[in-house]
Amino acid sequence: MSKAYDAIIIGGGHNGLVCAAYLARARKRTLVLEATDRVGGAAVTREIIPGFKVSACAHLLYLLHPKVLTDLRVQDHGFKLSARDMSTLPLAEDGRHLVLATDSALTSASLSAHSAADAVALPAFQARIRRFARVIQRLLTETPPRLGTRNRSDQLALLKLAWSIRRLGRQDMREFLRIAGMNVADLLEEQFETDLLCGAYAFDAVLGTRLGPRSPNSTLTWFYRLAGGGKNGSNALAQPEGGMGALSDALAASAKSAGAEIRTGSSVTQIRVESDRVAGVVLDSGEEIKADLVVSNADPKRTFLSLLGTQYLDTGFVRRIRDIPMRGTAAKLHLALDGLPSFSGVDRAQLGGRLLIAPSIGYVERAFNHAKYGEYSEAPVLEITIPSLHDSTLTPAGKHVLSAIVQYAPSDLKGGWDDMREAFADNVIDTLARYAPDLKDKIIARELLTPLDLEREFGMAGGHWHHGELGLERFFMLRPVPGATQYATPLPGLYLCGAGCHPGGGVMGAAGMNAAREVLAGRVAA
Ligand SMILES: Cc1cc2nc3c(=O)[nH]c(=O)nc-3n(C[C@H](O)[C@H](O)[C@H](O)COP(=O)(O)OP(=O)(O)OC[C@H]3O[C@@H](n4cnc5c(N)ncnc54)[C@H](O)[C@@H]3O)c2cc1C
Repeated sequence: MSKAYDAIIIGGGHNGLVCAAYLARARKRTLVLEATDRVGGAAVTREIIPGFKVSACAHLLYLLHPKVLTDLRVQDHGFKLSARDMSTLPLAEDGRHLVLATDSALTSASLSAHSAADAVALPAFQARIRRFARVIQRLLTETPPRLGTRNRSDQLALLKLAWSIRRLGRQDMREFLRIAGMNVADLLEEQFETDLLCGAYAFDAVLGTRLGPRSPNSTLTWFYRLAGGGKNGSNALAQPEGGMGALSDALAASAKSAGAEIRTGSSVTQIRVESDRVAGVVLDSGEEIKADLVVSNADPKRTFLSLLGTQYLDTGFVRRIRDIPMRGTAAKLHLALDGLPSFSGVDRAQLGGRLLIAPSIGYVERAFNHAKYGEYSEAPVLEITIPSLHDSTLTPAGKHVLSAIVQYAPSDLKGGWDDMREAFADNVIDTLARYAPDLKDKIIARELLTPLDLEREFGMAGGHWHHGELGLERFFMLRPVPGATQYATPLPGLYLCGAGCHPGGGVMGAAGMNAAREVLAGRVAA
């Protein structure tokens, strides 16, 4: 038996690192065991060919919780932004793009060219939606309550949720309750006539989920996205210098400076149990490491079904875990480019923003329809960045990298990803080339990460962005499943800290922070 620790974290994703940093700061002897050869999980930078680096999965930072940033002094550990307050450009094939900037005057001027009425309506709509998003924002750092208990802290947390809705005031509260379970398409169509605007907001609502704009709950997932990030849900888009991996490296440095130990290339194969509580872990090398506390950053299915084993859990709990929908829908295409591509009607400054190919609600919904039946759309929905425009550390001088998240790449693709990947990538590149005619001539190399790759390489079951679908039925006190909603699990000493828990995925760090608080408080699942 090797050296014992107070706490072992399974997985060095950004949430595992955040959790480790908080535990180490509280003087727990903490060990992080990461299966791959680098920390960060889906928040990593990788080289696609020598000299060309990209953020492998997550490429835009807009959710990171400010408390994580300040508590863990992430900036003191080398973290910098190469771009902030990035604009969004919903692209139109005819070149009449829309600009959604953090500067409202710029947005208004651009929207006026499409619809004067929408330009007038937008500011009040945005203000209201931000007030609604704040209801969720207040919950991000809360431990969800358990339902139906007489426990004071559970009752207080429920009261806080009710108060948070009540304090919206009568009119807003009614509207919030009316729209929270609605589909985002209906909400947007009630307000606006500009397809590009509706398509962009619909995209934000469904990104990373297996929902279409017309699916129930898609308004809630939009609020969820808007709730993240800075004060008042400002949700400004940013890019870390050196790619998303630089954030994970800074979190790892913060954890280490507080005393945590991090071992990469250490895959946990088993969570050990003795006398009905956690006793440590076993690695693929056969090494056993003891600890009374084990915190899993792996997704709930992997944690309970593969690493722990169902013999330690009651059948109802096992069924709930098995039922978590984990069919991912996001793929990522990376291109190494010989030079900057020209997107028709987009100037160089605009090219440094987030470009969207989601020109209408109908376009997004039709792409989703294919995914429902295990197919991909020939008209894919894309979020595109060219990070090398802001960050010279990513490519050799004069060269560039382009990243595109492809929404609606179903994990259960008919024909299988191994056989379909080239055709899929060709289709995405053809779509990009409709907006950037010289793109194909500039491609030096390409890399596609499918949901299957995400599962194989990043250990995310189904390649799911949130480690399990997000929606009203898997939100707050229902996430990931009743019996494990407060980070503690039915097995004493075993906790969860990843995206599968409240408040879900995205590079936010809140799940890791909340989990550490519950570990330190000695929370037990009841
Ligand atoms: C294609 C794609 C694009 C995305 N883009 C964005 C974006 O632009 N912005 C954004 O905010 N979010 C984005 N996301 C979502 C975001 O990346 C994830 O929600 C988030 O990174 C999850 O963090 P995590 O720490 O909870 O889990 P993960 O990042 O999944 O980390 C879990 C870690 O546990 C390790 N692990 C698993 N099992 C074991 C084991 N048995 N032993 C040891 N280690 C183990 C894994 O190797 C991994 O390192 C994107 C996701 C995808 C898939």
